[in-house]
Amino acid sequence: MSLNETVSAERVHIGFFGMRNAGKSSVVNAVTGQALSVVSNIKGTTTDPVKKAMELLPIGPVVIVDTPGLDDEGELGALRVEKAKQILNTVDIAVLVIDAARGKTAEDEALIAAFKEKKLPYIAALNKCDLLSALPAAGENEIFVSAVTGYNVNTLKERLGAFAKTVKNDKKILTGLVKPGDAAVLVIPIDASAPKGRIILPQQQVLRELLDTGCAALCAQPENLPALLESLKEPPAVVITDSQAFGRVSPMVPQNIPLTSFSILFARYKGELRQLLSGAAALRTLRSGDKVLISEGCTHHRQCGDIGTEKLPAWIRAYTKSEPAFSFTSGGEFPVDLSGYKLIVHCGGCMLSETAMKSRMTAAAAQNVPMLNYGMAIAGIHGILPRALAPFAAQLQTE
Ligand code: SF4
Repeated sequence: MSLNETVSAERVHIGFFGMRNAGKSSVVNAVTGQALSVVSNIKGTTTDPVKKAMELLPIGPVVIVDTPGLDDEGELGALRVEKAKQILNTVDIAVLVIDAARGKTAEDEALIAAFKEKKLPYIAALNKCDLLSALPAAGENEIFVSAVTGYNVNTLKERLGAFAKTVKNDKKILTGLVKPGDAAVLVIPIDASAPKGRIILPQQQVLRELLDTGCAALCAQPENLPALLESLKEPPAVVITDSQAFGRVSPMVPQNIPLTSFSILFARYKGELRQLLSGAAALRTLRSGDKVLISEGCTHHRQCGDIGTEKLPAWIRAYTKSEPAFSFTSGGEFPVDLSGYKLIVHCGGCMLSETAMKSRMTAAAAQNVPMLNYGMAIAGIHGILPRALAPFAAQLQTE
């Protein structure tokens, strides 16, 4: 994705599902006008979906998620449906491609039940309708299409566009914290873990939103913060710091200035701040041997450096004076079975869609595993969690 494009996590994610012989790939290609392939370039992961960010009229910026066939070889049917259901946790809209002549298979029926259970907007595309001698009436959430002749492909896109309007939201990262004309200070340490020549996505998004809102956005490294604050005629509306610098930054920021972190902002933006609070209590009671899952949303190259794999475990060990058993996941990986974990510590999830982040939180809540995010963990460890959450006190009271 080029730097000029909408970030992936902000796009509507549309998942295409179906049996191999239903012509799923042809329907994906007809809808997108491009050839996408479900052949994954990741070794040994034939069940990985292929994702492609694109502009799709009349919807706008989307991510098309092309999933492997429900009848791909090598796995049992139930397991394949299970895999498809996991992908459902990351998409906003589903298209199930069905061979119109053959009708729905047991796998199709199981997926439709899963769509309904998740209240996921879906449409069943009854493909190859050009081979039928006559078209019966389409059922609820069904449309007859032909990827070969193009029949109803535009109508399918329009229906997807109508769904997209219902799932897109105008949520802002900084709601309630700034108004036009305000100044906000962003504290961004440039240390060994900072990527070369740029700032990371959560910082970029906050900066952009401040500019969109008509705010002055001031950035400083922690050591330059006191001089910057002193130079301002009026205190800034908010100071937002990288979580790792919480301990250093908090004493530098007068108590009358709201202070929070990028990570906490994204927790509110992507998920449920209140649920994450339960993890803060669990962090305090960790004992040696307790299983802790540290999960990051980045694929391959972590953007948040070694915070998850090294710094957090070290801080948690020192804070709890214990030796918990840490395990780590990144990118799309997230265990289905969370039982046994005493705590999940998740990054801000800027690379994950809101749907994906929420489904992780729902899974944790359903299995009674407390979860918190990096920012809250670090603020808790430094004893400044109440301060970092104070800007959201009103919201927490009403949630
Ligand atoms: S580790 Fe998480 S918060 Fe950091 S850049 Fe990756 S997805 Fe975003």
